[in-house]
Amino acid sequence: MIIIDGSEGEGGGQVVRNSVALSLVTGQPFRIVNARGKRSKPGLMRQHVTAVEAALQIGGARCDGLFVGTSEIEFHPGRVTPGDYHFAVGTAGSTGLVLQTILLPLILAGGPSRVVLEGGTHNMLAPPFDFIDRCFLPVVHRMGPTVTARLVRHGFYPRGGGRIEVDIAPAPLRPIEATERGALRALSGEARFASLPFDIAAREIKAAQKTLGWDEGAIVVRQLPDEQGPGNILLLEAEYEHVTEIVSGFGKLGVSAESLAKTAAQRMAGYIESTAFAGPYLADQLLLPFALAGGGTFTSVKPSQHARTAADIITRFTGRITNFGERPGAPWLVDIR
Ligand code: ATP
Repeated sequence: MIIIDGSEGEGGGQVVRNSVALSLVTGQPFRIVNARGKRSKPGLMRQHVTAVEAALQIGGARCDGLFVGTSEIEFHPGRVTPGDYHFAVGTAGSTGLVLQTILLPLILAGGPSRVVLEGGTHNMLAPPFDFIDRCFLPVVHRMGPTVTARLVRHGFYPRGGGRIEVDIAPAPLRPIEATERGALRALSGEARFASLPFDIAAREIKAAQKTLGWDEGAIVVRQLPDEQGPGNILLLEAEYEHVTEIVSGFGKLGVSAESLAKTAAQRMAGYIESTAFAGPYLADQLLLPFALAGGGTFTSVKPSQHARTAADIITRFTGRITNFGERPGAPWLVDIR
């Protein structure tokens, strides 16, 4: 039995999700203690429990001690069965994080699946739908499987109510080298809002443009139907030949449109300047598919604590080692063997 101390490294929810995914794929049971031990409110929150419940359903698994607030669970994987699944994340919990938990087990399951997820689609501290669709999944396609995702309805915190549909055509994962971005194809952005004053989106665009100086009209306003709100997100997108990066600014009470947009724009400027393939979030999310492909290499901006912790968990389940190589004057080289 693999024992994970959930307070080590990043000490957050990603440790739980990665452990569950790896357990389903490798067939090894695990126990996690001190789950989310580094968070101000430790223990599993509703969205983490939903992610584990989704894994139980697709994986014919058993989990002892699973409830909201628990700090310790014991997970016994079963056999992953491809098929049609529907998961509703209570509250506005992130659909993207539930998908993160079950996607790779279903990709490797030996038959097609269709997954419908309801809840939040554009949540803070989680991959927004657009990021999954245009940044993460295209890299997975290069590795073999075909996964297509549709955003049917937006779901913003706190209301939720979003819906995404995902079709998975499985295939073995093959190792790839993702070290070059290729040529720049487009710089664009959207200030999306629902049931909020138009002015917020206009101010976000003005502030982002002040930092980025992209072509006039590169960042546009997109108004969503009122019933999908209230909600606001600024998405900044840099599309290269081999990779797309999306930086998000999440609208929330107490943060001005200008400051949210400036922070997002500075992050995007930093990514563009770095020449790395993967931005900080893509880097931590690529480790799992790369390890399950048997290895691979990509370049990245400075690895986050999330990425280093994910690499440690991967080693516990698969024995694969990730080397984060710093190279003066060049992006980091992340090598999984
Ligand atoms: P906790 O509340 O314990 O911090 P959590 O379950 O919300 O945990 P994290 O452990 O913080 O999750 O993991 C968040 C995941 O969401 C990571 O894989 C990270 O790459 C991804 N993520 C966070 N913000 C973004 C973003 N703006 N764009 C893309 N991906 C993101």
